[in-house]
Amino acid sequence: KTCADKVIYIENEKLGHFHSEYYQEALSSIIRERKPTLTVFAHSSPTYDLAPALAVALDIPAIMSCADFRFENGKLISTNPVYGGKINAEYSFDTSNGGIVTFLPGSIPVEDSGLSGEIEKIQFQFDKEFEEKRFIEFVEAAAGEIDITQADKVVAIGRGIKEEENMQMIKDFADAIGAVVGCSRPIVDAGWLPKDRQVGSSGKTVKPKLYIALGISGAFQHVMGMKASDTIIAVNKDPNAPIFAVAHYGIVDDLFKVVPALQAKIAELKG
Ligand SMILES: Cc1cc2nc3c(=O)[nH]c(=O)nc-3n(C[C@H](O)[C@H](O)[C@H](O)COP(=O)(O)OP(=O)(O)OC[C@H]3O[C@@H](n4cnc5c(N)ncnc54)[C@H](O)[C@@H]3O)c2cc1C
Repeated sequence: KTCADKVIYIENEKLGHFHSEYYQEALSSIIRERKPTLTVFAHSSPTYDLAPALAVALDIPAIMSCADFRFENGKLISTNPVYGGKINAEYSFDTSNGGIVTFLPGSIPVEDSGLSGEIEKIQFQFDKEFEEKRFIEFVEAAAGEIDITQADKVVAIGRGIKEEENMQMIKDFADAIGAVVGCSRPIVDAGWLPKDRQVGSSGKTVKPKLYIALGISGAFQHVMGMKASDTIIAVNKDPNAPIFAVAHYGIVDDLFKVVPALQAKIAELKG
């Protein structure tokens, strides 16, 4: 998708792998020269290192881990989950001298704005060496085949599923509606799904069009990873389950009755 007028491509072999000092040196030079209103990064381990150091080097403000933002009277106002997602804080800074923000992955949808994305290549030369830190090897983490942060529909399962053998019913239901299967942490702890399917503060943040939470209580650590979903449907047999506080639609019933009923209806509609 093309979301930029221009893509600046900085060429130097030292930038082939992430190295905070070389990245900081190259980016601070470009930012000083071009003076962008805002420098935006996805929040990740490298940018957690890079963004604050860059802000100090440039003497400009930075806000990390934003979930949302707006502009008001030349000020950027960000919304940031704090205290493990129990509350949202708002932070702001004046953008007249620029500033840096990092956004939580999945918090802002990618839109194709039809911009040209013209590539400008810059040959960059470093006038000093930062050799006390060296790239040795890239070791890829065991990757799952599905990226739940990119899915339009997520069917998430929690401890209410009770037994591993019941997982197949959920996978079949997800397949029937073209969804991917996500989960709460106990499902990963039990080894029934890989870690990359976990939604929440120590898992992934998702923002699908549809999030169906089955047998998930709605602990705040889970909710902070899915509450921005467009439509949330929760199925839980406990009417007081906190998940209903964030759900747009709630079904207070046994998921072992609800899921087969939904699946039968979908099969009927599909003919
Ligand atoms: C530092 C830290 C980080 C954490 N990070 C995460 C995280 O990233 N993601 C995460 O999910 N959790 C995380 N947790 C764990 C979190 O606190 C909760 O323990 C967890 O989310 C609970 O998972 P659950 O809702 O599946 O299980 P439970 O809380 O046990 O809830 C199960 C729910 O299923 C319902 N239920 C049972 N049977 C049925 C049925 N037949 N039909 C319908 N409903 C039924 C019950 O009423 C209940 O509400 C973290 C905890 C800590 C301390």
